[in-house]
Amino acid sequence: MRALLMVEPGRLEMEEIPVPSVNPGWALVRVVASAAGLFHSQMVKGMLDTKGFPRILGHEIVGEVVEAHSPASPPPGTLVVGDAVVGCGVCEWCVRGDESVCPWMRHLGIDIDGGFSEFALVPEANIFPLPGDIDLREAVMLSSALPCAVHAVRRTGVRSGDRVVVSGAGSIGFAVCQVARAFGATTIVAADVKDNQLAAVSKFVDATLNVAGMDPAEAGKALSALAGASHGVDVAFETAGHIKSVETTIKVLRPSGTTMLMGICDGPTSLTFQNYLGELVRRQLHLVTTFGFTRQDFLIGNRLYVAGRIDLTPLIGPTVGLDEIPQTLDYIREHGTGGKRYVVNVGMPA
Ligand SMILES: [Zn+2]
Repeated sequence: MRALLMVEPGRLEMEEIPVPSVNPGWALVRVVASAAGLFHSQMVKGMLDTKGFPRILGHEIVGEVVEAHSPASPPPGTLVVGDAVVGCGVCEWCVRGDESVCPWMRHLGIDIDGGFSEFALVPEANIFPLPGDIDLREAVMLSSALPCAVHAVRRTGVRSGDRVVVSGAGSIGFAVCQVARAFGATTIVAADVKDNQLAAVSKFVDATLNVAGMDPAEAGKALSALAGASHGVDVAFETAGHIKSVETTIKVLRPSGTTMLMGICDGPTSLTFQNYLGELVRRQLHLVTTFGFTRQDFLIGNRLYVAGRIDLTPLIGPTVGLDEIPQTLDYIREHGTGGKRYVVNVGMPA
């Protein structure tokens, strides 16, 4: 099979290698499509430990089952999407269904071979069937942003009647808005500092606000007013990874509300309160964090998508071939992705 191997940090090479043989508990999948983004350009530079070389990157895998042995596995030929998070399956967190915090967790496309290749091995427990007529470019988007959003929304317990603020209208914020709606949020207001991002998310929310130049207290007040929540909103999601956005999501809460911290602030980060008791403790706030997702989140995300409750089209970027990945990653490193994921066409029907 043709595979793009990362032979050492900074070096990708296309090679012809044997199709891997199937071990018990794993399925062989013919890769149809994968995705490339900023993460991969950082991976190529050696951002994360790949547990050895060569390594096949590509954690988003949409493909066709070739060989699987569990009676619960979909039959050969079934189109599936692979969940890249591989918990150990043995530890207490995996037993609780919380494999996203498994200390022995591995990840397809990081420290196990992934989808930048014509065939890939995926644990049988991690493959989820898709309808055969699905848009393959959209199917690739199911692998990451959507289950992350499902994980975060479930951790906050968003329910019908809730008023929600999402601070940060990038790809994750975009997914969070739609998943929060699917879980019953009645009013959703999105905040960002870029008008084009707000315009893109506007059809999924009730109101948007450009908070550029506002201090967090001012932004919190304005967002609460837009949500029709004079005492603050029930749940606020921070997806921008910026400290002012974190402060805004705390200010905007009603007493006993929940802030979900999803974004990743760069460098040393601290929160300051003029009145720690009044602003934080007495309000009995819930500050919750999230990272990754579980198979249950993955399943829920797929069902929401297949049921037509989630629109992933705004995430789709240009389509490139396997051998175009190196120059695509160079381009992304220079110019960014514009909030999109590039689709890697490995074996999509012409
Ligand atoms: Zn585990």
